[in-house]
Amino acid sequence: MTRYDADVVVVGSGPAGATAARLLAGWGISVLLIEKLRLPRYKPCGGAITKRTIQLLAPLDISPVVETWVHKLTVQSPDGDSFTVDLPDQLIATVMRDKFDTYLADAAIVAGAKLKTQEQVLRCEQINEGMEIVTTKQTYRSLLLIGADGANSVVAQQLGLKPKRRAFSLVAELATEAKERWDGNIHLYFPIAFNGYAWCFPKGKHLSAGLYTHLRFVPGWRDWLYRYLASFELHDCLDWRKVKGHIIPIADKNSSFHRGNAIVAGDAAGVADPFTGEGISWAIYTGRMAAAFARAFLEGERDALVDYTRAVHEEVLGEMKAAHWFARILFTFPQFCCQHFLCREPVLRNFARLLGGEVSYRQLWQKALRKGLLLFMNS
Ligand SMILES: Cc1cc2nc3c(=O)[nH]c(=O)nc-3n(C[C@H](O)[C@H](O)[C@H](O)COP(=O)(O)OP(=O)(O)OC[C@H]3O[C@@H](n4cnc5c(N)ncnc54)[C@H](O)[C@@H]3O)c2cc1C
Repeated sequence: MTRYDADVVVVGSGPAGATAARLLAGWGISVLLIEKLRLPRYKPCGGAITKRTIQLLAPLDISPVVETWVHKLTVQSPDGDSFTVDLPDQLIATVMRDKFDTYLADAAIVAGAKLKTQEQVLRCEQINEGMEIVTTKQTYRSLLLIGADGANSVVAQQLGLKPKRRAFSLVAELATEAKERWDGNIHLYFPIAFNGYAWCFPKGKHLSAGLYTHLRFVPGWRDWLYRYLASFELHDCLDWRKVKGHIIPIADKNSSFHRGNAIVAGDAAGVADPFTGEGISWAIYTGRMAAAFARAFLEGERDALVDYTRAVHEEVLGEMKAAHWFARILFTFPQFCCQHFLCREPVLRNFARLLGGEVSYRQLWQKALRKGLLLFMNS
């Protein structure tokens, strides 16, 4: 009879993996969480988290690792016009991912998960009724595997679940003087022919700024970033050695999120928002789903993993599709959209609520279509 090291092995201790491990361990299921790096580890990320993220993590209180609460949102159009709205309290916060992710991993340990760090998963395969996971140190067996190992997921790769589409984002951590010259808001700039946007977010003692794009390659991205920062006189705070980029995988309608006794969550599943690149809340959301369906599977529901794929399609990809259309329109016609829609106070307020996760893309589309229909009927 096969001996298992844990009921569930979770690969990757980012928001998706740590959340899945915390919930499973809290339900009394034995969990082994495997992380290739030593914690805390730096992760290139804007670290903007939304009210929705905070609600998804409750009752875990993340206030000890919040860098700052954001009080204003500024959107800038290609021609340079910008528009600012005040944000409701506690809608958007920023975190540094080294502290935030370690906090989530610690919470998983407190719940009863066993964490192994500096151990990289190299391979995984189905064996009999479970999974075999080969790391740089050891071979483990578990009844179920959750791949939450991020954008370059080995688990997704090995199981043929790798998302086909991708966006790209890069971040520059700016020197502390930058913070003093900044008024503490989130700034988004939608240039022409960039298929994305430039952003600047306040952190506790410094600023993070960067670019997000759907393009495979942005010619002259260094000049872009330099000019963007120069427009705020922040270019002298830029240290090119501290500029890091990464792909953000994006799933599509043909994606599957399970194979055999394994499922994928977070960036490994490609569930980041294709409009904003915001992936933390979706990583946590699918981490929670992965835990719930894993529990059902362990309790004997044989179709639970197929149901997981179905549920991710219904609950997450439907929203991603709506976000994708948003991105297509705004990134293709940024000047028109900013001038006629986005840079108007009621729209920008709704946009802020969307960024904060208070309304969904689908709700926003419905609202826009209803308004369009009313205008049409009144014309
Ligand atoms: C520049 C940039 C800016 C971004 N800004 C934002 C933002 O402001 N807000 C937002 O919500 N999202 C943002 N994102 C997206 C966000 O970072 C990701 O969507 C999110 O981190 C996904 O979480 P995850 O848990 O799925 O994966 P990750 O956070 O990537 O965690 C995966 C973990 O798995 C570990 N791992 C990887 N391979 C292995 C292996 N083989 N064996 C063991 N462990 C392994 C990694 O070390 C890592 O700790 C940004 C992304 C980029 C690139």
